[in-house]
Amino acid sequence: MIDTAITAIPVPVAREAPAGIYVHVPFCTHICPYCDFNTYSGQEALIPAYVDALIAEMRLTRKRVELSGDAPTLFFGGGTPSLLPADQIGRVIGVARDLFGLTSDAEITIEANPESVDGEYLYALRANGVNRLSLGIQSQRRAGLQVLGRGHKAIEAGSAYQAARSAGFNNISLDFIFGWPGQTAEDWDADLETILDWQPEHVSLYSLIVEPSTPMASAVQRGILTVVDDDTVADFYEQAAARLSGAGWQHYEIANWAREPGLRSRHNLIYWQNGHYFGFGAGAHSHLGTLRGSNVRLTGSYIEAIQAGRRPLAMAETIDTATEMGETMMLGLRLLVDGVSADDFERRHGESMTTRYAAQMERFIEIGMLSWHGERLRLTDKGMLLANDICGEFLP
Ligand code: SF4
Repeated sequence: MIDTAITAIPVPVAREAPAGIYVHVPFCTHICPYCDFNTYSGQEALIPAYVDALIAEMRLTRKRVELSGDAPTLFFGGGTPSLLPADQIGRVIGVARDLFGLTSDAEITIEANPESVDGEYLYALRANGVNRLSLGIQSQRRAGLQVLGRGHKAIEAGSAYQAARSAGFNNISLDFIFGWPGQTAEDWDADLETILDWQPEHVSLYSLIVEPSTPMASAVQRGILTVVDDDTVADFYEQAAARLSGAGWQHYEIANWAREPGLRSRHNLIYWQNGHYFGFGAGAHSHLGTLRGSNVRLTGSYIEAIQAGRRPLAMAETIDTATEMGETMMLGLRLLVDGVSADDFERRHGESMTTRYAAQMERFIEIGMLSWHGERLRLTDKGMLLANDICGEFLP
């Protein structure tokens, strides 16, 4: 049920840095046992209506906002966005450009699974304006792919990567997961070797979180699967950081590495800098000015709302100043090189970060978890391992 009071709240005017654009695609051919994303299998027949709804939502939103500049990024996330035909992706990009004025160098990313792409499709994506590919590899070990319930084989991942290079993608990010049940240090070392061998531009390395209510959580509860203990997961993380840093990669965010600083994910940097973004599609979140909202999660409800001419909001709220400042700290400290700039903080929030957070800073600097680098406050190597706890201390 959509609350009419919520739908009456206007999308605010984006007065600050231009907002990025996120487009959610909630379709997967099957659901991986660890997944708790907003995605559904067996709904591919809805794709044409869903794309129409996305475009209608963009038009509805555009009528309510004043832009502060062209959008610097457009990110198709999922789900499996590569289940959308390339011409439908091109259609969405075209409408986004018409309505939100994508910059000439806009980063346009699509997430893809290896089994859902081939050379022809990848060429078509490039021709339709996609310039960055985020491939969900997760592991190149057979045991890893099996326990994670992935829909592809290691050989298909290699072929997809090569096909993307042949299609002209020169900005490729790979996702890997570590800490899967049964994973050994040798398994992880082999996956890190794959990364160093393939030389993508960017990698995201996520430790497996067994989310409640997933099939994997139930298998763990029943003793069918055993999770890797926390110490071993921390060792895997340090192993990755050491190998990638040793090869000259920049570890710029807790879970993200870029081969060069210019190859960092520009779209995700907007999130970590507590910046502004439009979110379109089922379950998508937006953050514009002092408002944020999220859409209804079910694909059918989302399409129905749009077809009835309603905004598909499930939630909208005004962010108070204390929360906004706390989130700038919490998110910004995840950036290991940039950290949080005291000058930028004061310019944006009109208050001194060192005064407002004097107690937290003193405590964490004293025990070696945070340190100053010029006017930037950063996590130390020791602090990085407890990042969630430390960052959370800045929230009101
Ligand atoms: S492919 Fe990704 S989004 Fe789809 S079910 Fe698997 S983990 Fe979830």
